[in-house]
This record gives sequence, structure tokens and C-alpha cells, in this order.
Amino acid sequence: MNKIMILGAGAMGCLFGARLTQAGYDVALVDVWREHIEAINAAGLKLHSDDGEHTVRIKAGSAADINVHPDLVIVFTKTLHTATALESVRHLLGEQTYLLTLQNGLGNVETLGRFATAERLMHGVTNYPSDLKGPGHVSSHGSGYIRIYGVAGLCSDAQQAIADALCQAGFNCTLDADVERAIWEKVAFNAAMNSLTAVTGMTVGEVGASVSGPVLARQIVTETADVARAKNIVIDADAIWQSIRTVFVEHAQHKPSMLQDILQGRATEIESINGAIAAVARTHQVPAPVTETLCHLVRMIERRPGNSSG
Ligand code: NAD
Repeated sequence: MNKIMILGAGAMGCLFGARLTQAGYDVALVDVWREHIEAINAAGLKLHSDDGEHTVRIKAGSAADINVHPDLVIVFTKTLHTATALESVRHLLGEQTYLLTLQNGLGNVETLGRFATAERLMHGVTNYPSDLKGPGHVSSHGSGYIRIYGVAGLCSDAQQAIADALCQAGFNCTLDADVERAIWEKVAFNAAMNSLTAVTGMTVGEVGASVSGPVLARQIVTETADVARAKNIVIDADAIWQSIRTVFVEHAQHKPSMLQDILQGRATEIESINGAIAAVARTHQVPAPVTETLCHLVRMIERRPGNSSG
């Protein structure tokens, strides 16, 4: 396991690409953002982190530029671009290529499943933070965790090697047979915080300090827990609610990515977050009215006249 392709070299893709390169892996970044690719190829990728600023020499290109057959593809596009991105590199995927998604939301495995058999799919969650500062420049501060597991419910030696690679790159990565629960807990958190900030234009702290924000956030977490339970996944709604209360205070100034996307006129990940929860709710006839309403509102804002995603 040596050749790694990062598909979607934005904030997270660059963080993972840089750290894996520093750990000695042969990494290629694939993206569609030409200015970013050119900046990385010309001057290296700048990673600003708690241990200072590093310039990492790393190959970057479009799908057409990169001619490697990776052992592993880590998918880090926004979820709405996953299928297009994987389609663009399909010719580089071999029988032995593993695909790993650490994207937010639900439904990522189903999309990856169109490009590899279940035995070669891994999914998981991460809470490492990363921000794009400009072409060729990312910033990541603070620690986090990665939890991954094989989609087929087993972990082969190759999948263990993937976890080991992430650990060697300095990430706190564990194999977690209960990763689906972690994915649902994260989507519950994101369904509340991303949609409420995106619709109101408020920061996390402003939502928390409002009268209605905490009421709606709590309701979305409760609804998501009910929907998960219909799929036999038990998530800890109280613990998620406590972490939301914590970020209301400790990350008061934060603008979640969905709000940032709205402010930039870009399409958001609403379909794989609130939209995906609402879809499962409908299938299992579990009520999720607040989660679904927030989904409709974000869709309306995304598509208002003048937005590039409209
Ligand atoms: P990002 O927008 O910074 O990066 C996505 C990259 O994908 C962009 O550089 C974009 O140009 C590229 N892209 C778009 N279409 C493409 C295509 N067809 N082929 C190749 N590349 C393409 O997003 P991000 O913040 O890095 O987030 C990636 C995923 O990780 C999302 O699902 C997000 O929710 C999740 N996530 C983000 C963070 C974070 O702190 N940023 C933390 C945890 C999880």
C-alpha cells in the first residue's frame, strides 16, 4: 500500500495528502481547480498547522493529467461531486484499488459502490478541522480522530494497512466495527448546525444564543436518532446534544461549511445531510419534519436567482 490518490484536494484532501506525503507515501492530488493545481505544482503545498508552516512537494493535477494506478483513493470532494469525480478517474482504478470515504453525510458508500466491490470499500468519519486559505495553501489546527471500517463488515490486511498509513501520517486513526453509528452521530450534529447556520446566516454562537436555535437543533438531533433507530442504529442523542451545547460556546464565531457555501453562492451538502436523513425517514415512515423543513429551506436559498448553484 504505497500509491495513494486524493480525489478532491480541497481543505481536507490537502491536509491528508500533505501528511501522507510527509510520512513517505507516494501521493497524487486530483482536483478540478486549475489555479490551485498550478500553485501546488509550482511552489509546493503550504500546510499551516500547530507545528508551524510546511511546504510539501506533491504531485497535483486534473484527472486527465494524473497517470497513476493507486492502491488507495481517499475521496474528499464535497458529496455532491463524488460521482463525477470518481467517474473522471475510473480508468485509473484497478481490481486491487481500495476506496475510502471520510466525507460527511449519508449515502457516500452507495456512490463509491458504483466504482468498486464492497470488499474494497471503506467508510468512516473524521473531525480533524481544515480550512483552505487560497490556492496551494491550507491551514489545520487542533487534533482529532479518524474512525474507519470495511463496508463489507470485515477488515482485511489491506484495510489494516490503510489504517496504519493514516496513523503513520500522524492521524489518530482507529478501526471501528461500529463506524456506522459514528457516521449517524456526525450527520445528526451536522444536520442541526449546518442547516440552522446556513438558513439564518448566523454563526454557531448566535444560533446558540437565540431563543429558537437550540430548540430546533435539539429537535433535529432527536429526529435523526429516531430515523437511525428505524435502521437498527442506536445513536446517543444526549451526547450529541451536549456536544452541540459545547460548540455554541467554544466555537461561537465558527461559520460551518454549509453557511460558507451559501455565502459564496455555492451548492451545499444539504442533500447528503438533512436530505438523506429525510429520505430514510420517509422510507421507514418515521416523522422528521424539522430536519426536512430545514432541507427545503436550504434548497430554496441555494437556488435563489443570482446564485451560481441556482
Ligand atoms: P473543499 O470544498 O475544501 O474541497 C473539495 C475539493 O473537491 C475542492 O478543491 C474542489 O475543487 C474539488 N472537486 C470538486 N469537483 C471535483 C471533481 N469532479 N474532481 C476532483 N475534485 C473535485 O471541501 P472540504 O472541506 O475538504 O470537505 C471535503 C469533505 O470532507 C466534505 O464531505 C466535508 O463535509 C468533509 N469534512 C470536512 C471537514 C473540514 O474541516 N473541512 C472536516 C470533516 C469532514
